[in-house]
Amino acid sequence: MVAVKPRLAFKQFASDNYSGICPEALDYMLSANSGDAPAYGNDEWTQRASDKLRDLFEADCEVFFVFNGTAANSLALASLCQSYHSVICHQLAHIETDECGAPEFASNGSKLLLVKGENGKLDPMAVEQLITQRTDIHFPKPKVISVTQTTECGTLYSADELLALKELAQRYGLRIHMDGARFANAIASTHKTPAELSWKVGVDVLCFCGTKNGLAVGEAIIFFNKALAEDFAYRCKQAGQLASKMRFISAPWLGLLESGAWLRNAEHANEMAAYLEQQLSHIPGIHLMFPRQANALFVQMPEPAIAQLQSRGWIFYTFIGVGGVRLMCDWGTNHEDIDALVRDINKAMAEAA
Ligand SMILES: *Cc1c(COP(=O)(O)O)cnc(C)c1O
Repeated sequence: MVAVKPRLAFKQFASDNYSGICPEALDYMLSANSGDAPAYGNDEWTQRASDKLRDLFEADCEVFFVFNGTAANSLALASLCQSYHSVICHQLAHIETDECGAPEFASNGSKLLLVKGENGKLDPMAVEQLITQRTDIHFPKPKVISVTQTTECGTLYSADELLALKELAQRYGLRIHMDGARFANAIASTHKTPAELSWKVGVDVLCFCGTKNGLAVGEAIIFFNKALAEDFAYRCKQAGQLASKMRFISAPWLGLLESGAWLRNAEHANEMAAYLEQQLSHIPGIHLMFPRQANALFVQMPEPAIAQLQSRGWIFYTFIGVGGVRLMCDWGTNHEDIDALVRDINKAMAEAA
């Protein structure tokens, strides 16, 4: 296996996409580099990675690989909607707040309808109200419920919560899209199978993120409802999302899947976040804004303490969700990183007091 250099001292808990490529993925990427192979996904690596995803999900599903999450979500949603349809999502959903209008752009105008809900999760009652409040010709017809797993607040939808949304979708003829930017972390937390958190709870299409889980690049779009995947390859190509050297996306994916790193990486990130939570619990004045259920913590901290941390070189986001400090762990986070952060939070809080 390829040796990975220890990471440079870079003081960040900003995002899991700040991480490097994990050794298993890099190993397969290098293996895929011996000689030539057919282009545009007609290669053996892509075939094997797709088959392995079908095994993992215990389903005869259609698999596509694209470059990033914004494209995955936008193109998937566009395939579930006509332009006069609407997509119901949480008001903090990435598709609403962080994709620069790409879902509307890709779908030629399908409108996002926003719903509130605690801890970043859709409230089924509010969803039902939105579905039923207007049925006239002047309102964009609701067609999709979009959920993010884990949510933008770092929380999880349980299988039962997803079932409640499935029930609504079935009753009113809607489809379900899952933004699985941190789907692996959800599996690691719940110990459910990938099937149990996807098609078994009604998900028609899942955008399964590889980038945040240890790849250089590449998201898998998985259609459990195969009819919805008709002509999807053309949509990807038109959007500039068909990689000609596809094997350098699919081979690393195969590395994650065959080695089990997809789950180990997520388990590690979650464990690091649990350790960080435990360390922070000893610091007076530090409050979590949401229950920590996977690899992210949202921390309320006085402004001067935040400024202190930033001046000590720490990088993190303060604009995700509803503010506060978001601390994200990934496959490469280690105890020393966390201990150093906690030491500086302690100092910053003392000085801010
Ligand atoms: C990171 C992320 C994405 C994907 O973002 P890209 O930068 O387009 O790859 C999608 N949804 C959520 C919730 C995310 O956190």
